[in-house]
Amino acid sequence: MDLGIQGKRALVCASSKGLGLGCAEALAEAGVDLVMNARGVAALETEAARLRSEHGVDVQTVACDVTSVDGQAQVIEAAQGVDILVTNAGGPPPGLWSDWDRDDFIKALDANMLTPIAFMKALLPGMIDKGWGRVVNITSQSVRSPIAALGLSNAARTGLTGYVAGTSRQVAQFGVNINNLLPGIHDTDRALSLDGGVSKQQGISLDEARAARSATIPVRRYGTRQEFGAACAFLCSQHAGFMVGQNILLDGGAGNMTM
Ligand code: NAP
Repeated sequence: MDLGIQGKRALVCASSKGLGLGCAEALAEAGVDLVMNARGVAALETEAARLRSEHGVDVQTVACDVTSVDGQAQVIEAAQGVDILVTNAGGPPPGLWSDWDRDDFIKALDANMLTPIAFMKALLPGMIDKGWGRVVNITSQSVRSPIAALGLSNAARTGLTGYVAGTSRQVAQFGVNINNLLPGIHDTDRALSLDGGVSKQQGISLDEARAARSATIPVRRYGTRQEFGAACAFLCSQHAGFMVGQNILLDGGAGNMTM
C-alpha cells in the first residue's frame, strides 16, 4: 500500500532502538525524511546511517535526553516544520505502590506525560499552518489494562491519554490527526529488562521468564518492532485522516477486553 507520505518529514523521539526505531524504519521505508533522537550517540548514528543508505532519505540526529528541558529545546529546533511527530521516551521503573514518593511521580510525569505534551505544543502550530499533520504517541497497554507493578507508568500515561482525547478533537479540523499507539509486550531491551526483573524475583532463568510471559499472550510470542513500526506508519499515512484520538492496542490479544 502506498502510504502517500513520501517527501514528508518526521521527528521520531527516542528512536535508536526498540519501538521508536521500528517507527523510524517504517517511515523511512515510506520515503519520509527523519529527525532521530536518543541519548547515546553510537546506536543513533549507526541506525541513522543505515536508514539513509537503505532508503535514500535525509536523516538528522539529535543526541540528548528528550525528557530534559534543554534536550527538548534542541530537538524542537531541529524539528521545526515537521509534518509528523512520534513521541517516545524510556518507561518508568516497576515497583510497589509504597515505594514511590513525589519525586518519582514528578519524574514519570515529566518523561511520559509532559514531554510528549511539550512536543505537541511546539510542533502542532506548524502542522496546523500547513493544514496537514500526524502525531503518534507511543504509550502502553497499561492505559487500557493497568499493570500493577507499573504504577508510575499507569499514572503518567493515562494523564497523557486524557490530554490527547481533548487536544486531538481541537486540531482535527485543521487536518492534523493525533492518535496513541499502545504496545503490549514487544521484543526490545525494555522487555528484556522487565523479564530480567521477573527472573531475579522468581529465581527462574530469563528464558523461563520469557516463556511464561509468552504463554499469557494469545499469539504466544512477543511483538516485533517491525510490526509496531508498520502500524505507526499507517497512522501517519494519508489513509488515517478519519482516525482521531484513538488508542490502538498492539498486544497480541493479551488484554482480555471487548473494546
Ligand atoms: P527500548 O528498547 O529500551 O528503547 C528505548 C529507546 O529510547 C532507545 O533508543 C533509547 O536510547 C531511547 N531513549 C530512552 N530514554 C530516552 C530519553 N530520555 N531521551 C532520548 N532517548 C531515550 O524501549 P522500547 O521497548 O522501545 O520502549 C519504548 C517505550 O514503549 C517505553 O516508554 C516503554 O515503556 C514503552 N513500552 C514498551 C513495551 C515493550 O514491550 N517493549 C511495552 C509497553 C510499553 P538511549 O538509551 O541511547 O537514550
